[in-house]
Amino acid sequence: MEHKHLLTYEEEILSFTAYKNEVWYHISPPNEINIKIKIHNGYDGTFEREIVEVFPINSAAGDEKNILSDFLFNFLCNAPFYGNPYLVESDWFTYDEFAQLKDKSNEIIRKRKEEIRQQGKDNPLIQYCESKGLNPEPEGEPNSWQANCPSGGKHHIMISTSSDQWGCGYCRKKGGLKELRAFVEGDETVVAEGLQTKRSKGKKLKDFIDRIFKRNKE
Ligand SMILES: [Zn+2]
Repeated sequence: MEHKHLLTYEEEILSFTAYKNEVWYHISPPNEINIKIKIHNGYDGTFEREIVEVFPINSAAGDEKNILSDFLFNFLCNAPFYGNPYLVESDWFTYDEFAQLKDKSNEIIRKRKEEIRQQGKDNPLIQYCESKGLNPEPEGEPNSWQANCPSGGKHHIMISTSSDQWGCGYCRKKGGLKELRAFVEGDETVVAEGLQTKRSKGKKLKDFIDRIFKRNKE
């Protein structure tokens, strides 16, 4: 299967380029697009790895540019990257077109987060984080929040308002409200250990694909 270059973008976190990714595509009629993402280290450009995934497309989407535009919009809306994406080059999209799609997707993400904020604001974990100044914020996925880690480290705990659980992959701690209270108060003995919430890039992409498939089925 021969892939064509769609675009190259950089992921920027706090004004550092974390990754430089090339996105390649192959459209398989009638309703699939095969995407290959080549991930490069943003600092020295060394190739890190490659992800290949198949995404559904709306077969009524029309010509190639429309299909690619739909894909890119979905991609941006689901933000399977860290930080901010910046277009480096594309034969298909101008900087303006990319910026427009990004603005449109940011609006969708903003609305989605607002919904999650409304749904989760009365959750005990969220209220507790709020009361302790941990700055809980919707993460962009349903029932999914993040907050500053009570350890004081510069990373986040993940909170699920559907299961009333939280976890810090960095500190390897997790639990419910009782465990969070203990963590905040420094009582280490109550906190369960061994959770892996640290996200890999593959996981983010995988979540994205799952959501797209789910959404298309609904
Ligand atoms: Zn932590």
